Amino acid sequence: MPEPRKRKQMHERRVVEHRYNTHRWRKYRDGFLKLNPICAECDNAATVVDHIEPVRLGGEFWDTDNHQPLCASCHNSKSGREAHRRVAYGKKDSR
Ligand SMILES: [Zn+2]
Repeated sequence: MPEPRKRKQMHERRVVEHRYNTHRWRKYRDGFLKLNPICAECDNAATVVDHIEPVRLGGEFWDTDNHQPLCASCHNSKSGREAHRRVAYGKKDSR
């Protein structure tokens, strides 16, 4: 039985995604969130270890200096900003 395909991601390649599913990363993330339980941008509980410099833009995956705790909503809006940043130079969508 073939699994149903998810919608294709047109704007982002899923190259590094599998690294987030390793045992090593989950274990690291759990430890990190225990030490850093509060979101760096608001005061909600952090649920995500975010890469300050995104891995796909050249950030180091395992560099602890490149990690910060974020809640899901801050992480989503940060990812959105990063996606925008790549096209901001070519297109102006504010006019
Ligand atoms: Zn937050």
